[in-house]
Amino acid sequence: DAVEISLKDIDQLAKSSFPLCMRHMLDKLRENHHLKHGGRMQFGLFLKGAGLKLEDALAFWRAEFSQKVGSERFDKEYAYSIRHNYGKEGKRTDYTSYSCQKIISATPGVGDHHGCPYRHFGDENLRAALNKMGVGGHALEEIMDKVKNRHYQLACTLTFEATHGVSCDSGINHPNQYFSESQKVLR
Ligand code: SF4
Repeated sequence: DAVEISLKDIDQLAKSSFPLCMRHMLDKLRENHHLKHGGRMQFGLFLKGAGLKLEDALAFWRAEFSQKVGSERFDKEYAYSIRHNYGKEGKRTDYTSYSCQKIISATPGVGDHHGCPYRHFGDENLRAALNKMGVGGHALEEIMDKVKNRHYQLACTLTFEATHGVSCDSGINHPNQYFSESQKVLR
């Protein structure tokens, strides 16, 4: 029972069910109308894994990027790689989305927004981002403690539990798993 997500629901779904890494990239994309390559890959493949169809993906990225680079340049320079991710270009490999392990081991540079916030954000930014998700008090301190001990996926699992009010016994190991577990709780 593959889930499908539609274009108009992305912002609502991000608020309710995206893990922090993906919320952050959506925020930055909406803010800058642009994401660098690493972000387009990490976020684009996540959206694909969450059930966004190719046509909707093209419309989604075009709507943002055209505000920055124009739709002609988008069609020329960026549309190809989106179709590529969906296996419609090049070797026609159907690419799958990145696991937490892969995302955590990324090395985002200046101006990059991919990676795992638990691993790559500074203390203050992470606290602020978690506050924005409605996580505070004791739960927040527990999460920060996991981060200090480099247990990033456990920190994400605790965030899931704090924001959904249920326990997540399997633990978070993939952003698309976070999304589907969340949808299971909320639907
Ligand atoms: Fe994303 Fe995984 Fe990091 Fe959670 S632990 S923010 S799902 S990369």
